[in-house]
Amino acid sequence: MRLVLPYNARFIIDRLQQSGYTCYAVGGCVRDSILGREPADWDFTTSALPEEIERVFSDCRTLNFGKQFGTIGIILDNEQYEVTTYRLDGEYTDSRHPDSVSFSTSLQDDLSRRDFTINAMAYNDTDGLIDYFDGQKDLKFGVIRCVGVATNRFAEDALRILRALRFAATLGFSIEAATSAAILSGKRMLSAIAYERISDELLKLLCGEKADFVLRRYRSVFAVFIPELVGTFDYEQNSKHHNRDVYRHTVAAVSNIEPDPLLRTTMLFHDIGKPLSHTTDRHGESHYYNHPILGAAMAEEILRRLCMPRLFINDVSTLIRYHDVRLKPDPVVIKKLLSKLGVETVRRLYKVQRADILAQSMYQREEKLRNLSAVEAETERILSAGECYNLKMLEINGSDLLHIGITSGEEIGKTLDTLLDKVISGELSNEKNILIAAAKAI
Ligand code: ATP
Ligand code: MG
Repeated sequence: MRLVLPYNARFIIDRLQQSGYTCYAVGGCVRDSILGREPADWDFTTSALPEEIERVFSDCRTLNFGKQFGTIGIILDNEQYEVTTYRLDGEYTDSRHPDSVSFSTSLQDDLSRRDFTINAMAYNDTDGLIDYFDGQKDLKFGVIRCVGVATNRFAEDALRILRALRFAATLGFSIEAATSAAILSGKRMLSAIAYERISDELLKLLCGEKADFVLRRYRSVFAVFIPELVGTFDYEQNSKHHNRDVYRHTVAAVSNIEPDPLLRTTMLFHDIGKPLSHTTDRHGESHYYNHPILGAAMAEEILRRLCMPRLFINDVSTLIRYHDVRLKPDPVVIKKLLSKLGVETVRRLYKVQRADILAQSMYQREEKLRNLSAVEAETERILSAGECYNLKMLEINGSDLLHIGITSGEEIGKTLDTLLDKVISGELSNEKNILIAAAKAI
């Protein structure tokens, strides 16, 4: 098999070979190249020791953060390439880091420490594809299979459990029976893994094409680090708007939205507040009045625990808080929404609402979708007409008010808010002289 290596990859391999070492592209980049996908990064494995790698690339910028694990980063054209000495991992006591690593002279040793057969292939133009564990066959048939005994491999490093689910979701592969059984029996070990690493894998997984299958089949794995999800499992909604329990509705909503980490995360948690906000009216109908507020608070807590960035958490929380707001194609309502949330969030909110509707029952679906499209059309009309919806767009500002003698900061703020309200409601037109006259009257 012949793969097309980019120029810098060939440069790295050639250099090491010319200096008397062996070197291969390895892991994810080989897997993705065979699949015809663009690799996220290029990694190399070599017989050269870390000092020797540094010597061979002494004329290049190098990074040595991973040197004790055998890894030297080489910077070429502002991109980082990781070159790692053939390595065997020692004992694992924390389900994540080998207590020690030892360097090896054998490529086979290095490939045998890797997680899945599809990630344990190496390639260079001299020797072609090196595939000791039938990774090519698993790639062809779409199978995630541990290298070696699955239970042992997950016990060494529990993050591999989530990596298996991530690859199943992104590649649409099935998980081989023994590997799958070891995932389910070993899931508790995930609690030893740092949340930062978990969230990295979770976001990639959520954006996978087959995320819905993985979320359903392996829901008990997600419950290990997001126990709040358990309340939604099999939680029947008892409402004409729904034909799925809360968790199944959630998973359908996740797959109904584009594969963007923020949007997918929002859908995963949008109804998480439902079980705890359930009430029944005297006709026996169920209601979940405060679920968006409660859900937003729960999502914030979960995402903070998962060490997600502050801005990301805020955006998810806002979208969840507003996800169930019934909007009307009315310019005043929409301008107030634009003023409060900003254009970007409002556009995202519409995507969230559409994904939600499409995961509900057919009851009033056409009306709901027609209304949402009308709201979107009215929003785009307001935006392209450049109509005023926030203070920045108002043709008057604080210093204009100072000029006409309003000096207290508080009063300036209040006056501007009142003027904006009047412009949005159509009572005043957004022209400077008109606004100044109105300010004087106020
Ligand atoms: P991505 O497309 O996200 O880069 P990847 O498989 O390349 O996926 P990396 O984190 O870049 O993932 O790791 C590169 C390679 O290192 C993997 O393909 C695999 O061979 C090996 N590897 C990574 N993480 C582990 C792990 N936890 N256990 C064993 N091997 C691993
Ligand atoms: Mg990679």
